[in-house]
Amino acid sequence: MLNQDYAQICEEVAKLCSGFPGEYWQKLERQNAYPAEFVDELTRAGYLSALIPEEYGGSGLPFSAAAAILEEIQRSGCNGGACHAQMYIMGAILRHGSDEQKRKYLPKIATGELRLQAFGVTEPTSGTDTTSLKTFARREGDHYVVNGQKIWTSRAEYSDLMLLLARTTPKDQVAKKTEGLSVFILDMQEAKNAGMTIRPIRTMMNHATTEVFFDNVKVPAENLVGEEGNGFRYILSGMNAERILIAAECVGDAKWFIKKASDYSKERVVFGRPIGQNQGIQFPIARAYAQMRAAELMVVEAARRYEQGESCGEEANIAKMLAAEASWVAAEACVQTYGGFAFAEEYDVERKFRETRLYQVAPISTNLILSFIAEHVLGMPRSY
Ligand SMILES: Cc1cc2nc3c(=O)[nH]c(=O)nc-3n(C[C@H](O)[C@H](O)[C@H](O)COP(=O)(O)OP(=O)(O)OC[C@H]3O[C@@H](n4cnc5c(N)ncnc54)[C@H](O)[C@@H]3O)c2cc1C
Repeated sequence: MLNQDYAQICEEVAKLCSGFPGEYWQKLERQNAYPAEFVDELTRAGYLSALIPEEYGGSGLPFSAAAAILEEIQRSGCNGGACHAQMYIMGAILRHGSDEQKRKYLPKIATGELRLQAFGVTEPTSGTDTTSLKTFARREGDHYVVNGQKIWTSRAEYSDLMLLLARTTPKDQVAKKTEGLSVFILDMQEAKNAGMTIRPIRTMMNHATTEVFFDNVKVPAENLVGEEGNGFRYILSGMNAERILIAAECVGDAKWFIKKASDYSKERVVFGRPIGQNQGIQFPIARAYAQMRAAELMVVEAARRYEQGESCGEEANIAKMLAAEASWVAAEACVQTYGGFAFAEEYDVERKFRETRLYQVAPISTNLILSFIAEHVLGMPRSY
């Protein structure tokens, strides 16, 4: 398992996380604030640059190590949602960026001087139908001019750079709908004063997500990643990484809920005996544990395939679906075990319950994963 393969790293991550207990996250929620200190410490310790090669100042660790780090953050009761994107977005620059882009950005991302936390894909009118997105980047001489709108762009207020997906050729002028999309590295600090507006969206958990509007925002042509028109392909390989890493986070969440619930069930005495002596309390926790273990194996397999450059779309999607379901089943069992106390802020159960629910919707919803399995793995007729 990842936490055994990277036992020493996980031990260190757990130690760092112990400095950020429940009260820290509860206070942030009340203030609707970003966990800046937590993110700074992870950056200083080098965890957020785990995947940046050593020649660019990172730790150059394997992909599985990044998954182990995120799993441990969640298992410790913290929330990697504040910063996990840096790990999977950066892959697009690493794999498809020019040498100049890598030299310019990666060392500064590794030190934390630049934060690459914003991933601008989803749009309000197209949703999951990514190739129908409308944000357009028009080439004008040595730069592109971007117009459009993104939604759910998480961490946009706390990021210096955004990896932006935009159309560079209208959908009705390309042979395949996946063509004509391009990826850009957007300097958000510059864009903030030149046509880009960020509007926060309050959500049911503290996630720092936003809407971003682009009104004639200029992006230098040198910030195009790879070739114009091939961006969807670059984003897809990043999405597999994203799904595997978020699946690892869900396994971490499930472990947190299962430990919390089983510990409490041994201590809480009602009718003169621990509630954990009742099978009605035991079985949902045991089932959650079994589901978590199965999901964990799939995460390990998906991460292994990704790391070795093998195709991993099937495994990444299945890992994400099973892990998100396992964390939700564990969350449910934990709430039921805690009874009324689950609803009190001080135990963190209600906070983690709200946080882990997201992963059945984002970054890809369960229905779309099932549709991928049915149509792309099992060859059934296309539904859309
Ligand atoms: C808190 C939060 C943070 C996010 N962060 C980011 C981010 O940083 N960057 C970013 O780009 N995006 C982000 N997202 C967006 C996220 O990826 C999308 O919400 C998700 O992909 C679902 O898209 P949608 O909300 O538009 O749902 P829709 O596409 O409108 O779908 C709504 C429902 O219909 C179902 N559905 C749609 N089509 C079909 C079909 N053909 N068959 C069966 N069911 C279907 C879906 O499964 C879903 O359940 C975030 C979202 C949230 C809520």
